Amino acid sequence: MPEKIVIALGGNALQSKNSPPTAEAQLEVVRKTCEHIAEISRRGYELAIVHGNGPQVGRILLAGETARDVVPPMPFDVCGAMSQGYIGYHIQQALRYALSVRGRNVPVVSLTTQVVVDRRDPAFQNPTKPIGAFYNAEDARKLELDKGYVMREDAGRGWRRVVASPLPQKIVEIGSIRLLWDHAIVITCGGGGVPVAENPDGTLEGMAAVIDKDFAAELLAEEVNADALLILTEVEKAAIHFGQPNQQDLDHLSLADAARYLEEGHFGAGSMRPKIEAAMRFARNYPGRRAIITSLDKCLDALEGKTGTVVTFS
Ligand code: ADP
Ligand code: MG
Repeated sequence: MPEKIVIALGGNALQSKNSPPTAEAQLEVVRKTCEHIAEISRRGYELAIVHGNGPQVGRILLAGETARDVVPPMPFDVCGAMSQGYIGYHIQQALRYALSVRGRNVPVVSLTTQVVVDRRDPAFQNPTKPIGAFYNAEDARKLELDKGYVMREDAGRGWRRVVASPLPQKIVEIGSIRLLWDHAIVITCGGGGVPVAENPDGTLEGMAAVIDKDFAAELLAEEVNADALLILTEVEKAAIHFGQPNQQDLDHLSLADAARYLEEGHFGAGSMRPKIEAAMRFARNYPGRRAIITSLDKCLDALEGKTGTVVTFS
């Protein structure tokens, strides 16, 4: 049986710090990313891809807000779906090519994905994720009154809307993902999925919220019974004392070690911490399986056990 892996792609797999945030530049980065992914596929792994969307969805929102006198701005959940569409499209195009030059004619499909969140999630009481444009205090107040947005001052730069980051509860399209798994590489849960809440009458309602893609990838890994969760980011390994002279890169983390380091505050709140937490969740729920945190260019070595930070039950 081929090993099944869920790959979570970080921001650096889509966009380079040294190039402008254009669609053309994104496609160029995605092409390089897809070389790595195609190589994983060539080694015989079965895979699904989850990607981030923070900067992309932010720009879509900003474009809409800037043009609000010309066209009605799209609500945030729709912006999320749009970002899944164009990022998925780039990956479909680039990965198809990278696979074909390796003689692998595996179909690639991206699936606009909704992920259910709980309206009672405590995150909704404390929205923390800034999104979209900056406003002055007066306009910010107006948005609070007119639209019910929660506005916060952002580091002296002006007022911004903040939204909650709730935990993913359920992947709405999981049935389709399972059907597709045996026949294609599925790009799904992009940006953590479009957050939706379930209404008592059974309808789904898009929420202005951001689901962490690392948590969504973990949930997907559980739902498809994956052998491994591979979280690809900028760093080859997670570290303790990160950025300090005594930084120590971690090869292996047991749940107990991970919990201790987490408690001691070693992992950046909006960056490495959710990756460690997602990895711990997978290792806890699937003893014997592994979650790996590493960089894109080290993904094969990490799958072969040669590098990366591997989180396991014990
Ligand atoms: P992604 O887009 O892949 O989710 P993030 O920027 O959110 O990437 O998170 C990865 C970043 O987390 C690393 O590039 C690093 O700068 C930062 N980081 C924070 N704490 C740590 C740590 N303890 N070990 C390694 N990296 C850390
Ligand atoms: Mg991140």
